[in-house]
Amino acid sequence: MRRVPAACLRTVAVSALERAATTRLPTPHGEFQLIAYRDPVTGQEPLAFVSGRPPAAGAHVRVQVECPVADTLRSTRCDCAALLAHGLSATSAAGGVLLYLRAAPGTLLDRLTHYARQDTSGGPSACSQTPRGYEVPAAILRELGLDDVVLHSSDPRATVALEAHEVRVTRQKPVTLPSGR
Ligand SMILES: [Zn+2]
Repeated sequence: MRRVPAACLRTVAVSALERAATTRLPTPHGEFQLIAYRDPVTGQEPLAFVSGRPPAAGAHVRVQVECPVADTLRSTRCDCAALLAHGLSATSAAGGVLLYLRAAPGTLLDRLTHYARQDTSGGPSACSQTPRGYEVPAAILRELGLDDVVLHSSDPRATVALEAHEVRVTRQKPVTLPSGR
């Protein structure tokens, strides 16, 4: 089992990531090698969908945050399912990696409670595809040997945030969903 030494990481929140499982995963968007990681300290279980053999420099990368309402319940109330499908297709086509950050326990109920309130009183959407931090994505990319990437993200802060964790972003590619999705 490969480990990312704690000394390589800048924060104490992510002390070590270990590969828990690696398997072949066919999807409607292509076939991936799925690597499931586990952080024994934080309990996080992020996933990496690896398509083909991504180049050491210039691999296409998308960071996707799990949305249980969209990903599990297949709701179209938010764009998350469409963004996941788009991200898998885009990284598959380019030979890259989609990193899937798991939601915290309780997220589904929190979102549904928010939507119930929104049904009656309005208000902003509860969904955000902005990761809480880029420590974990950066640690996985470095573990995969990818420290120079093309980042698929519409978040203007994403490049700076990822580069703060020693992964160079040669280009940030905004994500545009097809109209009428
Ligand atoms: Zn969502």
